[in-house]
Amino acid sequence: MVVASRGRVGASGPTALVVEDNPVNMEVARYALTRGGFEVFGADSAERGLALARDLCPDVILMDLSLPEMDGFEALAVILADDLLRGIPVIAVSAHAMEADRARARARGFAGYITKPIDPRAFPDEVRALIQSRPAGGR
Ligand code: MN
Repeated sequence: MVVASRGRVGASGPTALVVEDNPVNMEVARYALTRGGFEVFGADSAERGLALARDLCPDVILMDLSLPEMDGFEALAVILADDLLRGIPVIAVSAHAMEADRARARARGFAGYITKPIDPRAFPDEVRALIQSRPAGGR
């Protein structure tokens, strides 16, 4: 078990919540993570993602930055302000590949940054590595 102490105990792997408004990107992420041993949940908006996160307390959240209405940065701010959600690592997933974008995401409190298009073969391990690289106790 790579993810310590959060989420349900049982036969299934760590739970991942994917917040992504593009159906094709959602499908690729879902496929890759499921294949990589994650139990995957999806939301197509930040609002629905936040509601699901409160219900599920997933081991990790993969957050598209460009979302309708509330965007990924705003959603992260809500998560970090929420006692229940703050400890969940949130990884930004974005087509913006500039170093400045990564730095901005890190500064805001994202646990990591993965550039789209994702590589389905590498994605689950990238997500695991980012979860594990977090300092103990989160932020
Ligand atoms: Mn999007």
